[in-house]
Amino acid sequence: MTPREVLALCREREIYAVDLRFMDFPGLQKHFTIPVSELTEQSFDEGFGFDGSSIRGWQAINESDMLVVPEASTAIVDPFMTRTLAMTCNIQDPITREDYAKDPRNVARKAERYMRSTGIADTANFGPECEFFVFDDVRFDSSQQHAFYYIDSQEGQWNRGRVEAGGNRGHKIRYGEGYFPVPPTDTLQDLRTEIMLRLQECSVGVEAQHHEVASGGQCEVDLKFAPLVQSADQLLLYKYIVKNVAARHGKTATFMPKPIWNDAGSGMHLHFSLWKDAENLFSGSGYAGLSDTALYAIGGILKHAYSVMAFACPTTNSYKRLVPGYEAPVNLTYSSRNRSAAIRIPVHSPRPENKRFEFRCPDPSSNSYLAMSAMLMAALDGIENRIDPGPPLDKDIYDLAPEELVDVARTPLSLDESLLALRKDHEFLLRGDVFTEDVIDTWIWYKSEKEIEALRQRPHPFEFAMYYDI
Ligand code: GLU
Ligand code: MG
Ligand code: MG
Repeated sequence: MTPREVLALCREREIYAVDLRFMDFPGLQKHFTIPVSELTEQSFDEGFGFDGSSIRGWQAINESDMLVVPEASTAIVDPFMTRTLAMTCNIQDPITREDYAKDPRNVARKAERYMRSTGIADTANFGPECEFFVFDDVRFDSSQQHAFYYIDSQEGQWNRGRVEAGGNRGHKIRYGEGYFPVPPTDTLQDLRTEIMLRLQECSVGVEAQHHEVASGGQCEVDLKFAPLVQSADQLLLYKYIVKNVAARHGKTATFMPKPIWNDAGSGMHLHFSLWKDAENLFSGSGYAGLSDTALYAIGGILKHAYSVMAFACPTTNSYKRLVPGYEAPVNLTYSSRNRSAAIRIPVHSPRPENKRFEFRCPDPSSNSYLAMSAMLMAALDGIENRIDPGPPLDKDIYDLAPEELVDVARTPLSLDESLLALRKDHEFLLRGDVFTEDVIDTWIWYKSEKEIEALRQRPHPFEFAMYYDI
């Protein structure tokens, strides 16, 4: 859509308000709204001012004025707000008119530009499988920084066995058996279909929706693959639609990777392929139908996995998901078959245009612009430097004896480990000025101080179980 088409859409749909959105540094969506009369063709060039100092991880207060510049191609009629058109924006400095280095969308745009400049590929396609939980209720106060919380879900573990208001009708999903039961056991069918419809109304391609393995209302709606920036834009919309549809059903959705101990966590597997001149560069005659380019890309991602995971598994909770037994990866290997490997090559389609691999480490707590960009940069490094991914591991890694795993690197055990790796291994991210030193420093500072250290200082609920009666 062009600016002129956006303005025509506003008239045609009798739009009152225009919502301007962007993603903050850690990965939360932000917005403000203008009356439609304020939107002109010039707005797409001149932008609108806001206070950048109030956004997490951004400007100092003495240089706080920033611009949002709407991207016409992202315009949608908002499915929840009254006669409102919404657009994703780029962030600029109002004086120099330069794109802001710490705008995650700008990092992603630069990653695409850098990829093209290498001559390797013109398009990086990402297909995300973003899992989430839907609960009836959560008992914690997000405004209280010292909150003690527990989850009270109709299907979650905490109230298992309790007779609910309205009666216990016996259709409960057992632990780890949430994959594909029909209603009435699957109580979230209509909710997911509504998510699917709202996404399609916003021109986001959907492949399928289903209940996931965890018993506590775990869901997945798979999006069709799209080029990096577009795919990350769509994930912003996805989270917005999921949370709002859940809220309208009187429920609540969370993208935290491991809300329930002892049941599956939520991943955001990224299916990935590189294309040039409308040809898929990953299709070939090597292992699992992959080309050398694809195998080198795997080599790059496995080599830089810890640094990539500092962006793709960026919360302290991310590492509670990466444990054996729940289809989440625990070792840094690749395989065409098993879901315990960090990289899996789906085998179900022999068509060259479908050839891709899936990086299973990323989770939905990530800022998708940064996670996808880091993954692309690692893949490009692998291709440029012909990094050998080593042999595949076609065994169930969860069942292997320790001596069979001595040569297989494990996934990081904590966010500290990933950030430590990022501190040392980030030269590949700086190419083409994609991630600047400032972006990396701010990321490490924000995650270390605001999350790791903040958690470390607080008594944890499980410490009461272990130590209360000491
Ligand atoms: N929930 C699993 C994870 O944490 C993935 C299940 C699947 O293969 O879709 O990655
Ligand atoms: Mg899944
Ligand atoms: Mg998958």
